[in-house]
Amino acid sequence: MNFDLTPEQEQLRDAVRALGRRYGHGYFVGKAKAGEHTTELWDEAGRLGYLGVNIPTEYGGGGGGITELALVCEELAAAGCPLLLLVVSPAIAGTVLARNGTDEQRKRFLPGLADGSTKIVFAITEPEAGSNFHRLGTVARRDGDDWVLSGRKCFISGVDEARYVLVVARVAVGDGSSAEAAPRKLKPALFVVPTDAPGLTRSKLDMEIVSPEHQFLLYLDDVRVPADALVGGSLDAGLPALFSGLNPERVTVAAMGAGTGRYAIERASEYTATRRVWGGRSIGSHQGVAHPLAHAAVQVELARLMIYKAASLYDAGRDLEAGVSANMAKYAAGEAAALAVDTAVQVLGGAGMTTEYGVATLLGGVRAGRIAPVSREMILNFVAQHVLGQEKSY
Ligand SMILES: Cc1cc2nc3c(=O)[nH]c(=O)nc-3n(C[C@H](O)[C@H](O)[C@H](O)COP(=O)(O)OP(=O)(O)OC[C@H]3O[C@@H](n4cnc5c(N)ncnc54)[C@H](O)[C@@H]3O)c2cc1C
Repeated sequence: MNFDLTPEQEQLRDAVRALGRRYGHGYFVGKAKAGEHTTELWDEAGRLGYLGVNIPTEYGGGGGGITELALVCEELAAAGCPLLLLVVSPAIAGTVLARNGTDEQRKRFLPGLADGSTKIVFAITEPEAGSNFHRLGTVARRDGDDWVLSGRKCFISGVDEARYVLVVARVAVGDGSSAEAAPRKLKPALFVVPTDAPGLTRSKLDMEIVSPEHQFLLYLDDVRVPADALVGGSLDAGLPALFSGLNPERVTVAAMGAGTGRYAIERASEYTATRRVWGGRSIGSHQGVAHPLAHAAVQVELARLMIYKAASLYDAGRDLEAGVSANMAKYAAGEAAALAVDTAVQVLGGAGMTTEYGVATLLGGVRAGRIAPVSREMILNFVAQHVLGQEKSY
């Protein structure tokens, strides 16, 4: 058993940390409050190869795995720059296309994902279906060589910044014309849809999260895409493609949470070590202040262990085991990040609620991390069912 990063991974971690610190939380919040994107940081990270660490080298990527991408997500967040689009573009879209795309799709999309010049966001959630992807109402039907997509998606992050959106739809298979024939079923399929495709419209959701990345409602009104927009080029590729994005999504979002937790604890510890309101002692010398911070630090570190266990299982091709660890990591990091930020706000006192001290600005984001991309309840359902052998309740 080895808990050490390789020298290359350490180098990557240190370099990303330095980049993140050069921008910092003030930059992130400034962009968010001005309604702007963190384009400079994204572009620089792309030029330096950090956005494509998990993309195969033949397409211009770093040839690493989800472990490397998790390090990038964690270190940027630990510098106060939690970039959600790292989760959707290189982690989800990058993995789905690298693993399940056709040769032509890999050649077309992966180089842009690798250097960050192309962002591809991900649309699965729908207003009616909620957590139940079996009830997705977005459908794709064949029309000649084309596919025509109709439906609605909600909470889709980064559509305004992205060139494409990876849309999860369902396609009717079998004609159901006779009792003998296969019944008409709906199979999931993924389509790479240009964000400026005719018939695709969006409206921005007002969210209580301080973030330069925004969420959107998407309306697909007979959006026509060519045959080669279907990921993997076959309807049989749909389900594996959908599943291949899930573990990278959970691991990287967890890494972002752990990094955010580290950032908050660091800000708070610096403050409590020097703030003196009772004579000569720092407030951090009082256990009522230090213990909650230490407790949060323990929770964040425990989450990190599970994140890197999940990442290394995934990179070793052990997908099923990685699934359990990735879910547990996502759960643990979501809880730990929320605890760390809330604790940091508390021990900073009034300063905790100011923009200047840069922790309350994270409250909305970490709260959302307990809901998205998969809620804590759905992870507990997964663990109860698949680890503890309990009957499915829903
Ligand atoms: C900031 C943010 C960014 C997002 N970005 C994206 C994105 O880029 N792309 C995308 O596709 N989606 C995105 N989402 C959507 C996100 O994945 C969903 O919000 C999440 O999966 C929960 O679905 P829901 O909101 O429909 O909740 P619902 O499914 O309506 O659930 C509501 C509550 O009920 C609980 N619940 C539901 N069913 C059960 C059950 N069987 N047992 C126990 N509890 C249950 C849930 O855990 C939750 O707490 C984003 C959401 C947020 C907040």
